Amino acid sequence: MQTITVLGATGSIGCSTIDVILRHPDKYRVFAISGNKQIDKLMKQAKQCAARYVVLSDVHQYDDAVKKAAEYQVDSEILCGPKALEEVSSAPEVTTVMAAIVGAAGLLPTLAAVRAGKRVLLANKEALVMSGALFIEAANQSGAKILPIDSEHNAIFQCLPDNFVYGNLAASGIKQILLTGSGGPFRTRELDTFNSITVDEACAHPNWSMGRKITVDSATMMNKGLEFIEACWLFGASVDDITVVLHPQSVIHSMVQYNDGSVIAQMGNPDMRTPIAYGLSWPERIEAGVAQLDFAKMQSLSFDSPCYQRYPNLKLAIDACASGQAATTRLNAANEIAVASFLAGKIGFNDITRVNEETLNGMEPMQVSSLQQILEEDRKAREIADGLVRGLI
Ligand code: NDP
Ligand code: MG
Repeated sequence: MQTITVLGATGSIGCSTIDVILRHPDKYRVFAISGNKQIDKLMKQAKQCAARYVVLSDVHQYDDAVKKAAEYQVDSEILCGPKALEEVSSAPEVTTVMAAIVGAAGLLPTLAAVRAGKRVLLANKEALVMSGALFIEAANQSGAKILPIDSEHNAIFQCLPDNFVYGNLAASGIKQILLTGSGGPFRTRELDTFNSITVDEACAHPNWSMGRKITVDSATMMNKGLEFIEACWLFGASVDDITVVLHPQSVIHSMVQYNDGSVIAQMGNPDMRTPIAYGLSWPERIEAGVAQLDFAKMQSLSFDSPCYQRYPNLKLAIDACASGQAATTRLNAANEIAVASFLAGKIGFNDITRVNEETLNGMEPMQVSSLQQILEEDRKAREIADGLVRGLI
């Protein structure tokens, strides 16, 4: 029996996680769930999965949350604030933590789970983008098992050989990792119309249903850039070990190419319950509620290379990855500000690239190693990006 904390339970990944958990009451029980703004939804979930603790991210939400708990007749204990998030991620009773808070807000509770040696189902890619070296080192020290939930990384994980050596792909006979991406909703749109892209257009992903931030990241392909960085840390790969492949149908979720010419791909319908179920049940397999691929009905599969003129954010991220931890932390921070500003209607679609690029250009290269330095670079980059956004309004 695994005892699970679901961070970011009210989000897209959080809801899919609870869906899979509730299919297997004999295997999983919920310890704590967390949310940010959607208190009603969180209370309904608390009742549904009999969570022992319900955590709101802001300490000021306590009175409101207690009132709502009474309204929904929820027996769970209410906790609030960042420290509470860390506590329910590291509590001794907890075996497993689903890290599905969006953005940098997920870093500290995810790290707390890693440091406490939990089985960590990692959806929150931003945590790894910000703190890769520290994160992996903490997992090595505590014995935490990191199971990638991002569909591409979960696919790669499934395609790796039994004798895989972290940080030495060649020793495992691997030629390269092929990281697939659909190319998002603007794969064929005229480049000179990108300026007029609306929020609704950017939030309409052709294949996946996800939270708004990652959906915009998919439209700019910053998501693939963040995934590129994530893959480097998860598998100990270098920039030259990974190639991004456009695959518009999102049936293949990524591949591993071997020295002997073999390519192993993981396929399935685009439904996050598949990687979530694999993370929960690894090394076994459980039913996830996902429709099976029907090859008789499947459209043809196509592939292409991404063009950096169309996807400049992908290039920014790969360059940042080559540059090091300070650059990836700063890029992630700038991008969070830029995407939030785009979603709020303050800046245009092309301005996202502008803010990301100018934030990076406005900061001197440096080495970061401690958590304190990472948080400081994150703060400074947000300040610069905020200033750039104000200049664009
Ligand atoms: P959503 O926006 O749907 O959900 C985000 C969750 O985080 C919600 O529970 C939200 O609470 C909570 N949250 C938001 N801001 C804060 C904050 N400041 N402090 C604490 N909690 C907060 O996102 P997704 O589920 O789509 O994505 C979650 C993570 O998983 C992201 O890192 C994303 O990149 C990654 N991921 C998602 C995939 C997907 O298919 N959705 C695929 C692969 C990776 P509330 O809703 O109550 O405000
Ligand atoms: Mg992904």
